[in-house]
Amino acid sequence: MSKDNCIFCKIAKGEIPSATIYEDSHFRVMMDINPATKGHCLIIPREHFDNIYDLDGETAGKIFSLATCIARALKDALGCEGMNIVQNNGEIAGQTVMHFHLHLIPRYKDDEVKVGWVPHASDEKELEELRRAIKAAI
Ligand code: 5GP
Ligand code: ZN
Repeated sequence: MSKDNCIFCKIAKGEIPSATIYEDSHFRVMMDINPATKGHCLIIPREHFDNIYDLDGETAGKIFSLATCIARALKDALGCEGMNIVQNNGEIAGQTVMHFHLHLIPRYKDDEVKVGWVPHASDEKELEELRRAIKAAI
């Protein structure tokens, strides 16, 4: 989706209303419209980045710094027992809105939310090949 037609760009600019809990010149933080749990919210940068591959390091740092503040506010306001920070990139990874965003999902006993994966046994040789390939790409 082009950024001209991006729903989160429109929300970030205030052209489409949102249940905003915080905003500054760089970010808007809003309640997710279809929350996984009570208090599920999203941090969105005002500037359009499709995903983590687009994002610059400075903005990434600011987003996570803001996430620490919002996470504490959620914990204090809601008394959640845990928190998942989720960030999806690409359709295969579950991204449905192609404007970078960070999910903060408060967790409660028996909330039945499923975030996770099935662990597999690793192969030592393959791990070493992967380690070398990834290290070389940094
Ligand atoms: P993704 O699947 O891309 O990681 O997450 C997109 C999230 O955006 C979903 O949790 C979805 O409920 C939320 N969402 C989609 N459209 C809107 C909207 O118009 N307003 C708000 N507040 N959240 C939205
Ligand atoms: Zn956008």
